[in-house]
Amino acid sequence: MTEHDRALSSVLDTVGNTPLVCVQAGPADVSIYAKLESFNPGASVKDRIGAYMLERLLERGDVGEGGTVVEPTAGNTGIGFAVAAQQLGLDAVFVVPERFSLEKQQLMRALGAEVINTPTDDGMGGAIERAHELADELDDAVVPQQFSNPLNTEAHYETTGPEIYDALDEVGAVVAGCGTAGTLMGIARYAREQNPDTYVAAVEPEGSLYGEFLGEDRSEGEYKIEGIGTHNTDTNELFEPELVDEVYPIPDERAHEELKRLAAEEGHLVGSSAGAASVAARHVASRIADGEIDAPHDSVVTVFPDSSERYLSKGIYGSFEEWSG
Ligand code: PMP
Repeated sequence: MTEHDRALSSVLDTVGNTPLVCVQAGPADVSIYAKLESFNPGASVKDRIGAYMLERLLERGDVGEGGTVVEPTAGNTGIGFAVAAQQLGLDAVFVVPERFSLEKQQLMRALGAEVINTPTDDGMGGAIERAHELADELDDAVVPQQFSNPLNTEAHYETTGPEIYDALDEVGAVVAGCGTAGTLMGIARYAREQNPDTYVAAVEPEGSLYGEFLGEDRSEGEYKIEGIGTHNTDTNELFEPELVDEVYPIPDERAHEELKRLAAEEGHLVGSSAGAASVAARHVASRIADGEIDAPHDSVVTVFPDSSERYLSKGIYGSFEEWSG
């Protein structure tokens, strides 16, 4: 865990121990707190799995020093893995569907990684397939496989979860967006160990299919929110339905409105997945306040995964129509 009261030997030592800050727009009787993951060195929640997973993979001998990490990623994971790979003596290659933000791809390259684009229409599935093909062509390469590797969930169980409970004595509900679902699953598993009645809500964009895991009807559609959601639940092997009470589908417009409100009123410069998480967290808080959800405590914890600066070229602070998503 990060300690900021002494000099650190590497930027990797600054991963984690991010601030937990009150979201002021909640109902009077229920507090909402957001874990601000843009405080990580690569400015997103994914720095946690970059450091944690690569350290474990090296320890286990799944890859040796001088070997290569190949990963399909929407971008933030690439940045997190690129920082960790560089510091741990590994090469890095990332396979990124074209639609994802250019800022992220520039940052991966600046950190020394190679970036390969796959067609947007092939989705994350296409990127996953290409990553495995590339790894097969290399001598000592590992695909950490954030979508299926339990180390992803473990990173959050070992760091994000305990950090939340270091800051708060009790937590009523945990609300977080699901891309790979590693963040939510790791926190939820830790939270349920502290109190088995902790309410857990997943967040997805409207048009994503995570709700199907809980037997809910979903119709597939495009969405602008970046970093969460799925079009193919077969690839989301980390999602554990028994740890989740509810899956909230959030429309793009609501997430966009909320991320702009968070900047204008609360000083949070966050991306669209944080906007979606905040909408859902406020909804859960209102339902706890109204007695509709029987949570063990009057508090809700959510995660703001990254910063809006990563999406300025997509017009994130423009009108909803101007935001290209
Ligand atoms: N928000 C953003 C911006 C992300 O990049 C990610 C990671 N895909 C998430 C949320 C979701 O995190 P996880 O993969 O742990 O579910």
